[in-house]
Amino acid sequence: MNVRVLGCHGSAQLVAGDQGPIQCGTCGFLINETLLLDAGTVGSRLYLEEQRRIRVVLLTHLHFDHIRELPTLGDNLVGEIEDPIVIAAIPEVLDGLRRHIFNGTVYPDFFRLPDPARPLFVSRELPPGQETLLCGLGVTPVPVNHVVPAVGFLLREGSRTILLSGDTYRTDALWEAAARAEGLQAALIESSFPDEMAELARVAKHLTPALLAEEFAKIARPDVPVYAYHLKPRFRQQIRQELGRLGIRHVTALEEGQTLVL
Ligand SMILES: [Zn+2]
Ligand SMILES: [Zn+2]
Repeated sequence: MNVRVLGCHGSAQLVAGDQGPIQCGTCGFLINETLLLDAGTVGSRLYLEEQRRIRVVLLTHLHFDHIRELPTLGDNLVGEIEDPIVIAAIPEVLDGLRRHIFNGTVYPDFFRLPDPARPLFVSRELPPGQETLLCGLGVTPVPVNHVVPAVGFLLREGSRTILLSGDTYRTDALWEAAARAEGLQAALIESSFPDEMAELARVAKHLTPALLAEEFAKIARPDVPVYAYHLKPRFRQQIRQELGRLGIRHVTALEEGQTLVL
């Protein structure tokens, strides 16, 4: 599975790095060129030709940092594609998109435009806990513990599976599903705040590095590589240092522009 990291932070911000500025973007992962997982960063990082190849957009939840460039993607693709893009998510997310974003006030309703018979987007409800085949991948959404309805995903390609946590605080069902998964190759797990902000993490329902380690341990697969993401750009350095001290065998923080082959 090819996972291209378009954006992997918990906010958008330009930060100073050792080799120059780093443009932190919100979450967007392009998988095997055709499936986009979360739409925080897509329109601004892909050529039009690459955006045209996207057939399915999977969404973890409705928070703005995960959907903010979905309107941009729609805008870029009007008149550019033959078949609609499938927007796949749990019902709460699909309802919220129609009600709050593509409502004709904030943005045009791309579920009906440019022509109700041939709209730009079609929605597909994903049953939690069940695998659905999309773009040749087995996609299983598993509800997680966040401040709004949210899921993490298991993505299976043949006998290889990867886990992406989405935004979550302490949870169980996702790790149980990961422990049962066939050929788990990697766990992408959110780590939004540094350890000293554990109280804010609890209230906002996110993880810190120490919490990430506790949650990852529930899979009981210490050999599986962990990729931390959704770092708040302001605390990037501190979180990265704390991740390095966890004692997890393989743990790295994801970076924009990186491609994982899993
Ligand atoms: Zn988020
Ligand atoms: Zn969130």
